[in-house]
Amino acid sequence: MRWAQLTLVEDDPGRFSPRFWLDYIRRIRAEGVCLSAGGCVAFYPTRLPLHHRSRWLGHRDPFGELVAGCRRMGLVVVARTDPHAVHDPVFRAHPDWVARDEAGKPRRHWASPGMWVTCGLGPYHFEFMTAVHRELMARYPLDGIFVNRWDGSGMCWCRHCREGFRRACGLALPSSARLADPSAPATRAFRRWRSERLFSLWDRWDGAVRAANPEARCIPNTGGGAFAELDMIRCAERAEVMVADRQSRSGTTPPWVMGRVAKEYRAALGPKPAIGLFNVGIEEQWRWKDSVQVEPELRLWTAEAIAHGMRPWVCKFAGVLHDRRWLKPVEAIFRRHARAERWLRDAEPVARVGVVFSQRTATHAGADARGTVEAASLGICHALVEARIPYEMVHDGSLDPARLAGFRALALPNITCLSDAQCDALRAYVRAGGGLVATLGTSLRDGEGRPRRDFGLADLFGVSAAGPAQGPMRNSYLALHPPHPVLAGLGDAGRIINGLRRIPVRLREPVRRPPVTLVPSHPDLPMEKVYPRHREPGPPELFLRAGGLRGRGRVAFVPFDLDRVFWEVQAVDHGRLLRNLVAWAAGGAPSPVRVDGRGVVDVAVWRQRDALVVHLVNLTNPMMMKGPARELIPAGPWRVRVDLPDGRRPRRATLAVAGRPIRVRRTGRTAEVTVPSVLDWEAVAIELAPR
Ligand SMILES: [Zn+2]
Repeated sequence: MRWAQLTLVEDDPGRFSPRFWLDYIRRIRAEGVCLSAGGCVAFYPTRLPLHHRSRWLGHRDPFGELVAGCRRMGLVVVARTDPHAVHDPVFRAHPDWVARDEAGKPRRHWASPGMWVTCGLGPYHFEFMTAVHRELMARYPLDGIFVNRWDGSGMCWCRHCREGFRRACGLALPSSARLADPSAPATRAFRRWRSERLFSLWDRWDGAVRAANPEARCIPNTGGGAFAELDMIRCAERAEVMVADRQSRSGTTPPWVMGRVAKEYRAALGPKPAIGLFNVGIEEQWRWKDSVQVEPELRLWTAEAIAHGMRPWVCKFAGVLHDRRWLKPVEAIFRRHARAERWLRDAEPVARVGVVFSQRTATHAGADARGTVEAASLGICHALVEARIPYEMVHDGSLDPARLAGFRALALPNITCLSDAQCDALRAYVRAGGGLVATLGTSLRDGEGRPRRDFGLADLFGVSAAGPAQGPMRNSYLALHPPHPVLAGLGDAGRIINGLRRIPVRLREPVRRPPVTLVPSHPDLPMEKVYPRHREPGPPELFLRAGGLRGRGRVAFVPFDLDRVFWEVQAVDHGRLLRNLVAWAAGGAPSPVRVDGRGVVDVAVWRQRDALVVHLVNLTNPMMMKGPARELIPAGPWRVRVDLPDGRRPRRATLAVAGRPIRVRRTGRTAEVTVPSVLDWEAVAIELAPR
């Protein structure tokens, strides 16, 4: 349930205090540890030739000392290796183990110029690192090996890669120019081949680990989310556990994104555990590895991970401390996790809304992928967080009836790549009563990323695509025609700002009384010229269908980038429209919980056999939109009403984080509590009895 990672640096042996770390690991009640062992630098007296021992190792065995200490405390122990870089003697003995650039030149390490970058698919990984893993498993009582940076560092044109790819596919390795085109046949073949090679490397290491200890596993650091290279579903089939290596915000990432990360991993893993690896430092793109974050950020980042189901894993680089400010906050985070542990395990998420993500769509998104894929998804998720609607992430590889059964609505934020089978699965979902909210280019490509002539879901949308995307549409608006539930809360607004990019559409059937029509772009200067050129209502710009779909479900198609522009511009009207669309598609009840009271709160609901647990992460903060919180600001009281499972009533309730009871009332089919105040995170555990 709680993990600690100590990543040693080469000059740590003899300078850092293993006793200090063992004591700290005990104090934070960690149950598992991950300790630097070998690969790039060995922190134990390895006997393998060319396995570089720390130059400060002497006759010591700091890895072995830490392993023994952790074993005495009864902890699960995982060794960490990193194969991505080697020293000169390795290069001199085996120049073919090192990655080559396109011109065939061996690659120096970009940050440590005295070292070389290894080929992720060559003999160094397949042979040498397997030997390292065997040696570690043979000499120490280990439960697993965590392999960092194991999949190479970018493209490699070495002899092994060239020959291996030609043997497998009969093709020359694609050039870097060709690689930029995801639909080029050579690029497709290469991606498939590389993926299979990585899975076979994983299997090879895992086989070596299991041969030594059948209960142990190799855990490669695989990455997750739409931009992960390896298919998450296939990773999750192999893995017993996955580690979400999102160490801290990057730039101005808001804290709730860590909760979304938890859901992306859960989308692939199901009930298998996901671990939230966080770093005590400010990661950012500049990688100040020795930095320390302020307590409010550490607390919010980990609260998001924990509330959304991940087990915390604290990561510290270097055994010698230059800044001790993180020690007490992390200890407090772990201690309260231990206190609430009973309510954090053996639970299933309860959410009625799913947000689909698609690695294939990210692969085929081209240069603007961060905008068309990530910003679109972040926009819908941000709208749901603001609306206090719990949601799950749904991997597009699992659009099957069993996975979708619990959802009343699915959001498809510009999910361009959908195979015919996936479109059929979504049709079946709508026939069975599910709702869809799809935006912009959803289903305009097939499962292989090839453009379609029309939306794959045109029959559900009620419109066909009538040309390539238009935009940016400057100074364009949406004219609103209330009353309609999707316009709730927009009051007297006659029009609101439009998105920036749209797919022109052709109606497949007449639309009566469209709630939203288009006010096309018109000049924004000179001021005298800023008026719409068309007085009559424009064409419909939002397509809502219910009832006429040979089923009970509702479909909302938004032909423009509402989600992305909400993320990038944060106009409240767009957030409200997104929330209303999801609520409408879900048949009016998108959430199993209602939270009333001021502030910004990210809500998650979990079901245990005999309890409901409602997590409230207080994001009320002037810095909420930008991640770098300076202080925590209490919010509340919050009135929380959660729907009860059939035939159950509340028995009693506890504030799991504060560790004290709270009064609970039943009103009809809901349980109600009032949480007086929350600083950063609280979990309301409502125990259930038969009615
Ligand atoms: Zn290579």
